[in-house]
Amino acid sequence: RRQALTAYKDLPSSTQDGHSITLLANVGNLSEISHVTDVGAKGIGLFRTEFLLMNAKALPDEQQQYKLYCDALQSLNGEVLSIRTFDIGADKEIPYLEQSHEDNPALGIRGIRYSLSHPDTFITQVKAVLRAANHGPIRLMFPMVNQIEELEHAMVFIEQAKAQLIEQEKGFGEVSLGIVVETPAAVFNLPSMLPLLDFVSIGTNDLTQYTLAADRTNPNLAKQFPVLSPAVIQLMSMTISHCKQAGVKVSLCGELGSDPRALGLLVGLGLDEISINPSNLLDVKAALVKGRYQDFIIHAQQVASLTRIEEIHAAIQQC
Ligand code: PEP
Ligand code: MG
Repeated sequence: RRQALTAYKDLPSSTQDGHSITLLANVGNLSEISHVTDVGAKGIGLFRTEFLLMNAKALPDEQQQYKLYCDALQSLNGEVLSIRTFDIGADKEIPYLEQSHEDNPALGIRGIRYSLSHPDTFITQVKAVLRAANHGPIRLMFPMVNQIEELEHAMVFIEQAKAQLIEQEKGFGEVSLGIVVETPAAVFNLPSMLPLLDFVSIGTNDLTQYTLAADRTNPNLAKQFPVLSPAVIQLMSMTISHCKQAGVKVSLCGELGSDPRALGLLVGLGLDEISINPSNLLDVKAALVKGRYQDFIIHAQQVASLTRIEEIHAAIQQC
């Protein structure tokens, strides 16, 4: 079966009727980087940088991070590297970081909130990213942004990072800027933020958690945490239409993108790109290459009109 799938590796990622989608890879540890090109991904759509912190004894400094981002770029042979800034919070214990206990870490100081309240850590990471951008295409994206003020605040730190690099006579390049849309607030507030953004990536794992008020890590909530629910489909659809209206590229990097059954819906809703776990990429690509865009659009309209989770799951099963 693996062998049959590898036949898809070098095919263009287009439907039978010629609609192209960019397929990227999610990377959450160093060993995954080498699989990205093995499966023919057009780069990394989500580089979960917090793994650098979990395995370390101390916060990696600017130079260490710079080197690591450059290594990742190098292994991508000129394809894009989408670096998500540290998505840390009280749920991930990192002994050497300043973290206080929270009763409700998912609703606490995590993602961009942590970064904005720890400017030194954030600016160090941004400097390393900007320096690496001198060596290849980099997208920088922020997790858990709800609101334009957070984005503006983060952008002030990017300017400070650039000023420091100029002062220190270190070379750097430009990055594309994006946010992970993973809260309902981000979806509703997107029109105000889009003029500042080059791209958006939908994080369906957290978007599902925060829309349904269901802890994504609680094994007893499987029923309350479906693969797809009507509300999440509506929020994805809203996000995509906001992005289309503003002419901003829209991707998806949640686990949903790694499920070949969801491919028809996701493409039919109008996503430009999907970022997938490397081990699932060729399965998803097979679903793309075998299908027709016109059918995916009809399928997506049909699925978006359903109100029952069971019906949605049955409909995507058949795709
Ligand atoms: C998401 O929330 O969908 C996402 C891609 O990020 P993570 O799973 O790392 O929270
Ligand atoms: Mg997330």
